[in-house]
Amino acid sequence: MEPTATPLIALDGVRKSYNLGRPNEAEVLHGVSLALGTGEFAALIGPSGSGKSTLLNILGLLEPMTAGSYRIQGEEASGLDDTELTMRRRASLGFVFQFHHLLPAFTALENVTLPALMREGRISVARREHARAVLAAMGLADAMGKRPGELSGGMQQRVAIARALVLQPPLVLADEPTGNLDRASSDEVFALMRRMHAELSTSFLVVTHDPRLAERCDRVIELVDGRIESDERRAAATAL
Ligand code: ADP
Repeated sequence: MEPTATPLIALDGVRKSYNLGRPNEAEVLHGVSLALGTGEFAALIGPSGSGKSTLLNILGLLEPMTAGSYRIQGEEASGLDDTELTMRRRASLGFVFQFHHLLPAFTALENVTLPALMREGRISVARREHARAVLAAMGLADAMGKRPGELSGGMQQRVAIARALVLQPPLVLADEPTGNLDRASSDEVFALMRRMHAELSTSFLVVTHDPRLAERCDRVIELVDGRIESDERRAAATAL
């Protein structure tokens, strides 16, 4: 899908320092400007320590920036209070982490219905049915009643992706989503992310160390020492 003219998210001159005002204060993002449109599937790459997780945390409204502007769906994030940030996060974002963060005592289906519970205070029949459909689309029809500990790493990660997608957020932020998987499971999980991207209008920003996976994204943004070093769109990225 072609990105639309209005960016889904737009960063302008974003800076981030840790330990502000302390002797160990350190600026790790030095003025990052970046826009991502609806329907993009982008990789964020760069050496360890270059600021990828910090940038993802800012995009995810999990960390405040020190300076600059971040507009998400046209709304400036720096002016939002904690409640507004939480609401915006629930409305606009899905998260997938390297370690899935599924709740171990809950089944796959219960884990995937949690975002609806968090956002709406209840799980409607329609939401539960949709959660089942998303799990089935991820190849997990037979695993819905199982707890994370009963599933393989790849299956757990697919549950985590189903959870990130279930409320159809405009943007999914994924931090090394296949980082703890073997090659075959990693390829499979990544291919499913691409398929879900093709079927929904959700944009993806995927932090990855794996050049094989970056190659399969439509756009590759490289961060080096807290600055964007390169930002390339690929003409013919293909799913696995
Ligand atoms: P990457 O994800 O690319 O490995 P990070 O965003 O994790 O990079 O880290 C960028 C820099 O910020 C590193 O030098 C790291 O040590 C530092 N850093 C990250 N988180 C914190 C924190 N909570 N407090 C202080 N320094 C941090």
